[in-house]
Amino acid sequence: MGGPGSGKGQARLYSSEREKHRRRRLRVVQFIAEQKAKPCMDCGNSYPPFVMHFDHRDPTQKIAKLSSCRRFAQAVREMAKCDVVCSNCHAIRTFNAKHYLIRHQVVAPAEPEQPRLFH
Ligand SMILES: [Zn+2]
Repeated sequence: MGGPGSGKGQARLYSSEREKHRRRRLRVVQFIAEQKAKPCMDCGNSYPPFVMHFDHRDPTQKIAKLSSCRRFAQAVREMAKCDVVCSNCHAIRTFNAKHYLIRHQVVAPAEPEQPRLFH
């Protein structure tokens, strides 16, 4: 169990490390939100940042999800490969990409086709 005060120094060190990580993560999250503050590339509508998504133009070039990027440089690198689209348009792009892959049995879609939805 350990008496009062045991391991306190270690806990303090640990929490300051955690604080450092938390701040670094916050900076990345804030940067990502700033980059999302633009109209959707597909439909041209503007939405709050949480509605906007980064869509990798070429899925084969994707190394990490933006939301899982912990480091600033990594986020910037991934962002350069992405278009900013709203969640509706992202869903349509994903649908088209998936069906393109199935139909043509290729790794990466070249041109997304017109959505064929709601039959
Ligand atoms: Zn859109």
